[in-house]
Amino acid sequence: MSGRATGLGRIAVLGAGIAGLTCARRLQAEGAASITVFDKARGPAGRMATHRGDGHSFDSGVPYFEADSPDAAAAIAEWQAAGVVAPWNGRIVELTSAGEREVVGGPRYVAVPRMTALARSLVGSLRLATRTRVVGLAREAGTWTLSAEDGSQAKGFDHVVVAIPGEQAAELVAEVAPELASQAMAVESRPCHALLLAFSESLPRRFDGAFVRDSALAWIGCDSSKPGREPGERWVVHAAPEWSLRHFDTDPERVHLTLQRALAERLGVTLPGVEYSHVHRWKFAVPTAPLAIGAFHDPASGLTACGDWCVGGGVMAAWTSGQRAAELLLAGISAC
Ligand SMILES: Cc1cc2nc3c(=O)[nH]c(=O)nc-3n(C[C@H](O)[C@H](O)[C@H](O)COP(=O)(O)OP(=O)(O)OC[C@H]3O[C@@H](n4cnc5c(N)ncnc54)[C@H](O)[C@@H]3O)c2cc1C
Repeated sequence: MSGRATGLGRIAVLGAGIAGLTCARRLQAEGAASITVFDKARGPAGRMATHRGDGHSFDSGVPYFEADSPDAAAAIAEWQAAGVVAPWNGRIVELTSAGEREVVGGPRYVAVPRMTALARSLVGSLRLATRTRVVGLAREAGTWTLSAEDGSQAKGFDHVVVAIPGEQAAELVAEVAPELASQAMAVESRPCHALLLAFSESLPRRFDGAFVRDSALAWIGCDSSKPGREPGERWVVHAAPEWSLRHFDTDPERVHLTLQRALAERLGVTLPGVEYSHVHRWKFAVPTAPLAIGAFHDPASGLTACGDWCVGGGVMAAWTSGQRAAELLLAGISAC
């Protein structure tokens, strides 16, 4: 702890995804003593999500992530040394109407034993207020007041870090930072239906993950082939963005049947019995037009914003943005 941030006062971070938690941890490491992280969900992790049902667990959001810079690679190496991240050495292919092609690249990583593990480890000693959807931000007498959906308020914050998807951030900051709101509104995240399937028997497996082209599907992944997972035969199927958009309000049972049929066709097999299935609908899966701002910071009001949408999309973009947000905030304090 360097202690250089003793002037930081009380900080509220909205969003316990990788961006918000990275920013909060960095500020804590620099000496900020009073940080509360708010999230509308039951637990942290955001789109690094794990779905559990009937004893099965699935990575329902991001299937894996990769380093996109030397700093990101160093962070991943630290997480790996701490035992919360492991490389996934699965065989990844691309499936097109012309056939199958090996996809080289990586290394690819997952959190272990499930995707939420990384966020849970980042929470550490931070104060986390879950099941709290923040619907209003107001600056009153030099501090911030947060209003939650249930009518409660949290007052007296010197700084607010908004670390939620771009479109949601735009709505939240419309009154207090209209310029940021109009930029954030333009990021236009793509939706994604994720079908989670646990089978009674193993499937014949030519690959562990596949990017699918020219199809209702975008991704097929064998979740149970990842390191540290429980035994079983679990697959996750992502619908293509255009398909997900077109079928955004389609009944989940119809989405399930259509995607399961497409999976069977792509694998060229008769699927074994389904022990468990679930369709998760992501409204803001991946930003299509991310900004290249790193993060946003207004020293005058103490409002900061970060998230994948400020850098490029993806887990390590969110990490980079969280780091940048903390740096801007700390620089703003030093300049005062
Ligand atoms: C289906 C899918 C596939 C993906 N594929 C990949 C991939 O292959 N590789 C890759 O690197 N990335 C992938 N991603 C993207 C990756 O998951 C994200 O880029 C990254 O997790 C974003 O982190 P974040 O912290 O910016 O946002 P999030 O993880 O979305 O965190 C934001 C948090 O804010 C909370 N929140 C939102 N609004 C409010 C509010 N009003 N009040 C309180 N809390 C609020 C949410 O509950 C959430 O926990 C994928 C995502 C999905 C969904």
